[in-house]
Amino acid sequence: MNSQVVDGSRPKAEGVIFYDANGRKHTAYLNNASCRASEIVLSAGAIGSPQLLMLSGIGPAARLHSLGIEVVLDQPLVGQDMADNPLYGLIMPYTKSIPLSTATVVGILDKIYIETVNGYDFSSLSVGSAAPTQSSTAFQEAAANSTTNLGFILGKFKGPISEGYLQLQSTNVSDNPNVRFNYYQAEEDLRRCVHGMKAIIDVLNSESLSSYRFRNTTTRDLLEMMVNMPVNLRPRHPNATTSLEQYCIDTVMTFWHYHGGCRIGKVVGRDYKVIGVESLRVIDASTFVFSPGTNPQATIMMLGRSIGLRILQSRRRRSNLVSQNFSFKVDKTKLFQEIRVSRHKVNKTPISKYIFNFEI
Ligand SMILES: Cc1cc2nc3c(=O)[nH]c(=O)nc-3n(C[C@H](O)[C@H](O)[C@H](O)COP(=O)(O)OP(=O)(O)OC[C@H]3O[C@@H](n4cnc5c(N)ncnc54)[C@H](O)[C@@H]3O)c2cc1C
Repeated sequence: MNSQVVDGSRPKAEGVIFYDANGRKHTAYLNNASCRASEIVLSAGAIGSPQLLMLSGIGPAARLHSLGIEVVLDQPLVGQDMADNPLYGLIMPYTKSIPLSTATVVGILDKIYIETVNGYDFSSLSVGSAAPTQSSTAFQEAAANSTTNLGFILGKFKGPISEGYLQLQSTNVSDNPNVRFNYYQAEEDLRRCVHGMKAIIDVLNSESLSSYRFRNTTTRDLLEMMVNMPVNLRPRHPNATTSLEQYCIDTVMTFWHYHGGCRIGKVVGRDYKVIGVESLRVIDASTFVFSPGTNPQATIMMLGRSIGLRILQSRRRRSNLVSQNFSFKVDKTKLFQEIRVSRHKVNKTPISKYIFNFEI
């Protein structure tokens, strides 16, 4: 396998192994002969990036050894600091038909972000069939009204403080790793959820929403509807409709804003280079310390653009750069097996005179 020893000790990333659309295995190498600045940029997301680093031998040595993975760099912090912003909220069956809408901002309080998604047909949602205590007033009123449609009023807070970890289950890249986010382990996170839920309940009880709300539906009915929905596999506690703390814990959901695993300052430096490894960067949400209170995609895209520009600028400064670019597109459905990182020197198969830009 193509590799080099840097400074006599530091491992250096040299290529990737991937499968094409026909399932054929390929290895692509950096062309360091013509461009010493060439490198691999890993952007497989908060779950994919730590997973691929570990499969490539960069991770906690003991765990990698136990799976039979050759350790290239003992880095116990890969896969740590996994966090996900919990989603909390309520379902509101409306008395009037409301147009279908994607997430719309309701309001922003101190570190609390509230959105609404409207216009779902009550009968098409599992809330109808799955609600075990169909005696609830809210359920009966909504179910009896065929024109009823639902709104979700949802909250997110910046952060969170609670963190967990990601662990490989096997050496098969197709196996999902185990991920634990430890939602609400930090009391402050729970406090913020309760604060956000109180704000949501205030919105529901507002004069503006009164004509959309079924007359006999109490706030507790609405909480109960949500508690009875199969939003997660957690056990439900009897006090989930009377204690907002328990409600937050029992009905926790995800906004899919998970992040961490290759955190900046721990796994990557401020230049997003993997600490202790040459020619390898990670640029995605896995490097985030926290996710912005709002939706993170724009921030992640700007991170990619910002670091991409910095990489281009530093390349341009090198006078010996080859000007041609070679873009190599890979079918997104195909999986990278690993990044080749090694200390052993062997022969190269160069992709001659091109800077290698790997796009996924
Ligand atoms: C259902 C859903 C809805 C969302 N809605 C919003 C929204 O409305 N607004 C918003 O801002 N954010 C939203 N998000 C969150 C947002 O999509 C993520 O925060 C963001 O995409 C993360 O960016 P990333 O670059 O870190 O990872 P990703 O965007 O996940 O990119 C990682 C890429 O790497 C690929 N990959 C992973 N492993 C491998 C492998 N082994 N081989 C090859 N390829 C691999 C993946 O297929 C993926 O294409 C949503 C997320 C989900 C799941």
